[in-house]
Amino acid sequence: MRLVLLGPPGAGKGTQSRRLQNTYNILQLSTGDMLRAEVSSGSELGRKVAEIMDAGKLVSDELIIKMISRRIELDDCKNGFILDGFPRTTPQAEALDKVLSEKNMRLDHVIELMADDEAMVKRITGRYSCTNCGAGYHDAYQQPNNAGTCDKCGGTDFIRRADDTAETVRSRLLAYHKQTAPIVTYYGEKGMLKSIDGMADIDEVTKKLKEIIG
Ligand code: AMP
Repeated sequence: MRLVLLGPPGAGKGTQSRRLQNTYNILQLSTGDMLRAEVSSGSELGRKVAEIMDAGKLVSDELIIKMISRRIELDDCKNGFILDGFPRTTPQAEALDKVLSEKNMRLDHVIELMADDEAMVKRITGRYSCTNCGAGYHDAYQQPNNAGTCDKCGGTDFIRRADDTAETVRSRLLAYHKQTAPIVTYYGEKGMLKSIDGMADIDEVTKKLKEIIG
């Protein structure tokens, strides 16, 4: 099973991908997570990437395409994968088609999570996660049961993404409309696209996704 989840930043691609990977035993491949790992490694490349991410801009197609092509060749992708945050530009979508057809693979579903910009700013600027286990929380919608302690692992350190500030989120949304929205049309014209309401409750979105995937 090979899936692409599309949608603006904050639409729930990461949350839903993590749920789907358990249900379908396929791997979530988040290009954002891969880039954040590179930044954390402190490498020269990581420093360059951090500057771009903090400005809310997109990293070069060349780097991303190389990264994802190598990744999907690894053994743990044999059963399938969910692409979360990739492709994000038309050249990336075209490169994905090429890489998959060279490996005799194809996408099973491309699903768009639709959401409006103002709600996304509110969602993203309030979100944070447990440093230890990665469990996600939100200032307004989902606080831990005991303030300052993670419900899942008892951890007491929390982190916010460096690019989750209101200013950067607005740049990320602009990049989405300008560079990523065209690929919604790209997959639409190929007859591969399904769109669902990403503003709905998390469980409701998961249910709709499972109905599509089967
Ligand atoms: P995400 O975690 O998907 O919200 O991505 C965070 C940031 O990583 C984006 O704002 C971009 O700077 C960068 N990024 C992630 N995926 C891509 C991609 N497919 N193409 C270009 N830049 C990306």
